[in-house]
Amino acid sequence: MRRPVIAGNWKLYKTVKETVQFVEQLKPLVQNSSHCDIVIAPPFTALSAAIHAAAGTNILVSGQDLFWEKEGAFTGEVSAPMLADLGCQFCIVGHSERRQYFGETNETVNRKTQAALAAGLTPIVCIGETLAEREVNQTHTVIQTQFDEGFNNLTVQDFFRIVVAYEPVWAIGTGRTATPEMAVEVHKQIRQFAQQKFGSEASRELRILYGGSVKPNNIKGLMAQVDIDGALVGGASLKADSFASMVNF
Ligand code: PEP
Repeated sequence: MRRPVIAGNWKLYKTVKETVQFVEQLKPLVQNSSHCDIVIAPPFTALSAAIHAAAGTNILVSGQDLFWEKEGAFTGEVSAPMLADLGCQFCIVGHSERRQYFGETNETVNRKTQAALAAGLTPIVCIGETLAEREVNQTHTVIQTQFDEGFNNLTVQDFFRIVVAYEPVWAIGTGRTATPEMAVEVHKQIRQFAQQKFGSEASRELRILYGGSVKPNNIKGLMAQVDIDGALVGGASLKADSFASMVNF
């Protein structure tokens, strides 16, 4: 039985004060929500405040990115052990905005994924095709390459600890959601790739989230699909009541 994950990716939003306010508002709305992992991913500057505000609750905190080295002369970077030390339990890796604006490749995603695992974090690894790729029927190939290269050299035991987020790039922040059927088709392919590379059990246990304009009014249809194990939500995760209604889908 795969435990759902509802994760909010805050991107470049919220100060420390706004973060604490959000967590205080969210707490009572999700205090009885034991059916899923509830994860928020504030920016680096608000992680500590989020972790303190969420202490003793069922709200878990995630980084939005990390660097693969533990420490060194890498100005501006934050490492996986630093996030773990702070109290983060998850970290998003390879978000399409990182790939698009910050030059992330499948190889850097692989290094970051391994670093997250080594530090005891659960990586939420994002994969997904662009509109241009979908339009020329490249979705399957793109996802397979992202999967194979992103998870290169991982052991089966490593793979058990990973969460995958399928995020079609054309659906992120555009208001254009994949239909549940479109999402499921790719989720099934991802599960197949997982089976080929890591075996049946790892594939069965893999939690695959959908991301791309998930909102309170469309999450139910997505979560009704057997192969969709949760959501990675951007814009609609920024208000506590909206995020809570998705947690309580
Ligand atoms: C995201 O940031 O991962 C995302 C899916 O954003 P949005 O929900 O705003 O499309």
